[in-house]
Amino acid sequence: MMKNNIVLLVHPEISRNKYNFAGIIENEPLELEYIWTVLAQAGYEPHIWDGQVEKVPFVKKLHELDPGAVYICGRTRQENFMKEYAKAAKENGAVTMIGGLHAQRCYRRFFNDYTDYVLTGFDPSVVTDILEGKAPESISSLCRKKDGRWTVNKAVPHDIRTLPRPDRTYFYAHPDRYRYLELLPAAHVRTSYSCPYRCSFCIRNRMNCGVYAQRDIDDVVDEIAGISCDNIYIIDDDFLFDEKRLERFVSLITERKIHKRYVCYGRADFVASHPQLMKKLADIGLYYVLTGIEAADDRHLNAYSKRCDNAVNEKAVKILNSLGVNMMGMFIADLDFTASDFRDIWKWTVRNGLKHTAVSIFTPEMNTELIKEYKDRLITRDPYDSRHKEVFRQTL
Ligand code: SF4
Repeated sequence: MMKNNIVLLVHPEISRNKYNFAGIIENEPLELEYIWTVLAQAGYEPHIWDGQVEKVPFVKKLHELDPGAVYICGRTRQENFMKEYAKAAKENGAVTMIGGLHAQRCYRRFFNDYTDYVLTGFDPSVVTDILEGKAPESISSLCRKKDGRWTVNKAVPHDIRTLPRPDRTYFYAHPDRYRYLELLPAAHVRTSYSCPYRCSFCIRNRMNCGVYAQRDIDDVVDEIAGISCDNIYIIDDDFLFDEKRLERFVSLITERKIHKRYVCYGRADFVASHPQLMKKLADIGLYYVLTGIEAADDRHLNAYSKRCDNAVNEKAVKILNSLGVNMMGMFIADLDFTASDFRDIWKWTVRNGLKHTAVSIFTPEMNTELIKEYKDRLITRDPYDSRHKEVFRQTL
């Protein structure tokens, strides 16, 4: 039972050390804005607290608002913060709900005394279903306590076409924060869930129960037209997938005379095999393509089941460079890396004129086959080890 109709929606800070992208990349809390919209429509009083931008500490905000319910989302490395905030919210007498990408896959990690519900899908209306007292056994994609024991309701794919238009009041209130590099502000738009590819290191293709689902592209363009922001970050795991849909996107943006810059994820093989379409996208404002180059050699690319080889990666960079579109080429530093592998990445970027590069350390995702494969090399199961040690023994 809720003590009032106030709901605090929380996205914790990304980190508490200097390893973060503050002032470089800060993401609009779109998931919370969707829930905010659904709650407001149902007569609740929602508030957002985003640890990336808020100056008021969480506990102060919690005590000021004294909400009847608190929903907290986050990614793997935010798990400890999510738990800490859920505990504080429970001590303050709130109904506590956990959701977001990490909880969807690793819901059991949130089975504790101070969490009431864990949401394992994308449907924002599950939050109102819970608060309105709908029979819990009838709500899909939900973990709940029954007689003190956790019960897991079946997760189902969400129909992305039923998402409401998100209320972006919170985004507009922080025009100096939400950005992608020099694109400030940058509004997030989601046009699909999950990914149709199956790269071995990636978990994004398991989201939405592994079902790739697209919104109608006319509706997407309609949403973009209504956003008061010149920069649009399309946050799909892979936007450059469906050729016909992208042709329609280009036509509609042109017809409606929408002049904005776009950021999206896209695979190198799509770029390399669609130079004409990439030109059309460049002409309507495509500015950054975030591409998993992953490796400078075919041996690693094959091991990752990337279905892309080095020649294709090189061709993709060349096409985007010729169109004046920035590629952010993302590489993986594998656990077998030696100094010469890092030098190879450096040489690859220079040789191909890749101006923007990001390198991530290979990290097996929790609750996957990969984590079982690497279990003997784990030195902690804490995704944000307070000692700030590396999660895996280094082999360098
Ligand atoms: S790495 Fe990219 S293309 Fe591969 S499964 Fe993940 S999101 Fe899809």
